[in-house]
Amino acid sequence: MRPRDLAILGSLLVFTTGTGFMQSISKTTHTLYLGEEKVWVDIYERTGADITLLNLHDNENTAVEAGLAFIEKYGGRLIELRHGRGREVVVRVNGILHRFDPNRMFSDVGLRASLKYFNNNSDEIFAIAAAFRDSVTKLIAVRKGMVVIAIHNNTPDKMTINDFRPGGWYGNDTRKVSINHQQDSDNFFVVTQEDLFAALSISGYNVALIAQKPPDRGMFSDYCIRLEALNVTVEAEQGKKVNQEEMLEVLWEILREKKNNISIK
Ligand SMILES: [Zn+2]
Repeated sequence: MRPRDLAILGSLLVFTTGTGFMQSISKTTHTLYLGEEKVWVDIYERTGADITLLNLHDNENTAVEAGLAFIEKYGGRLIELRHGRGREVVVRVNGILHRFDPNRMFSDVGLRASLKYFNNNSDEIFAIAAAFRDSVTKLIAVRKGMVVIAIHNNTPDKMTINDFRPGGWYGNDTRKVSINHQQDSDNFFVVTQEDLFAALSISGYNVALIAQKPPDRGMFSDYCIRLEALNVTVEAEQGKKVNQEEMLEVLWEILREKKNNISIK
């Protein structure tokens, strides 16, 4: 269920469950501008788990469905960027579209490189994109010790756990990789902590442990490392909601057991 048409601004109740008492998720929408372009940042919240789920790519909708199912069960916060332009975010000036990857915007170096990749090298466009980035980071409000889970989807075999193997696209930035051939290679975790790597690997999931100091590409995970927040990426194949929901639940179970030095209720 994607209540896209509900709630423009302000907060309202979106869901109730049939468990006999009211359990609702509140939704707040913030409107941000990129020149003439609008991006809506939807924030869903329910009391319970002290966890933030973040969906940066607007065309990765299974992740949002799985994330909403998770907070409906356990509580937490889900932040979704919404604009209808697909994976990348667009800056529109004088009707011209300039794209960048929102998962490359979390440093100036990464943001410039992403704009350049999509053929733009103007300071004006960079400034608009950077102001947008600053508004988004203010809303996410990452702080030390916080648990932030980035939720993504991929199309079959486009990006897989195999990209994290030595010689793969992310091979150089990966410390360890654990692959379970019983699992779909499109479904995997990316973690920054050794103990989470071990726990997820023992649980039979595909998991990559990324370098402690990866190159500055402006990715959200690098940003979390810098701020000493606990970050995990949960990638699942588009359409595989049940798998992604299960991955979130397994991860939550492990995080609850881990408890040490992070503020999990
Ligand atoms: Zn993504």
